Amino acid sequence: MTPVQSSLTLKPSKHQKSKQAANGIENNIIHGVESLIRAMLKKHRTPFMLIKRSVLEKQYKRFRKCLPQVAPYYAIKANPDQGVIKTFINLGASFDVASGAEMKYVLSLGASPSKIIFANTIKSPEDIVFARRRKVRLMTFDNEPELYKLSKDYPGAHVLVRIKVANSGSVVELSLKFGADAEHAFFLLRKAKALGMVPMGVSFHVGSQATNVENYLQALEISAGIFNEAKESGLPLKILDIGGGFPIQHFDNEVGINFERMAGQIRQQLKTLFDNNVKFIAEPGRFLVGPAGILVTQVMGRTFRNNKNYYYLNDGIYADFSGMVFDHCRYEFKTLRRGQKFLSTLAGPTCDSFDTLSSNEEIPELYVGDVVYVKNIGAYSCASAVANFNGFPPAKIVMV
Ligand SMILES: *Cc1c(COP(=O)(O)O)cnc(C)c1O
Repeated sequence: MTPVQSSLTLKPSKHQKSKQAANGIENNIIHGVESLIRAMLKKHRTPFMLIKRSVLEKQYKRFRKCLPQVAPYYAIKANPDQGVIKTFINLGASFDVASGAEMKYVLSLGASPSKIIFANTIKSPEDIVFARRRKVRLMTFDNEPELYKLSKDYPGAHVLVRIKVANSGSVVELSLKFGADAEHAFFLLRKAKALGMVPMGVSFHVGSQATNVENYLQALEISAGIFNEAKESGLPLKILDIGGGFPIQHFDNEVGINFERMAGQIRQQLKTLFDNNVKFIAEPGRFLVGPAGILVTQVMGRTFRNNKNYYYLNDGIYADFSGMVFDHCRYEFKTLRRGQKFLSTLAGPTCDSFDTLSSNEEIPELYVGDVVYVKNIGAYSCASAVANFNGFPPAKIVMV
């Protein structure tokens, strides 16, 4: 039995020590972020979004390390900034695009057609023709009418059938709109072959910010069933696309998100359920770019309403905080000021009351010109911003 440590001992316990060390690291990180912000304020007008290249690289390497047998196709909708795409091209990433325009854009930045998946199950005929012309062969589908479109405009396309899987616990549901019933998957792949396409495999998406690993494990089991059925019928499949959804931490003290553990379980399941010659790919968006973004705004005006300090920032719901609507996201608002905290409201600059960011933030008293910043906001933020609603420009993106 290990002796119980007395609470009177002066020496800090192992646990306390590691907690102190963690706080020390956290303080250093905050200090680093804030000095970066102060330096950037001298060069750029707010609002601006800093994208840290080192964090993009770190996230990419984390993904590769934890899922070494899975090739990441960055889902560019999460943040299509040029600098972000170029960084991932240099790292050797592949790309997930959802339209001809996205395809054209990543190709123009230098991505190779063999490293692109057209991962929208519904494609316009023009975009199908464009994919054929530009030799982007790999794509997903989930219904028969789409196969007729492909057989007309892109015979020979390599297709993955997207199946509907559980999205329980994910912040953003994606299976409400897409995915064939798993029971029909093999029928659809056979049909694809009959119509002149090359049936390559299966894809799924467990929903975005998927904190529940069970969704992945269950989806892998269902996919393995389809792979077995196909093999027994003499139509062996070669590619499994495990989609995106990999979660990130938005708040400093958030618990329950552990990518390393989650990836470990997925890795094990891939090894157990699939043949050695199956190629695995994934479509991470948020995971690769979310932690790299820091949004920096300033207080434009302040008042006192409903017994609270009330601050109007120069960025809001219509622009870089659009993720609060479309991505159901909540953020941790931080200030460069220290001192006593008061319950406060933060709002965006537009004339709409809906443009309110939070009505219960505990923050120090702020003055016009003071900075309010948010970390981990690189995904689904500037990507879905409306340009210049009410004349307020969205954040300038600055790669650092
Ligand atoms: C949005 C989307 C992704 C990226 O999802 P994340 O949750 O950001 O990883 C990947 N694949 C498809 C088909 C998507 O629609």
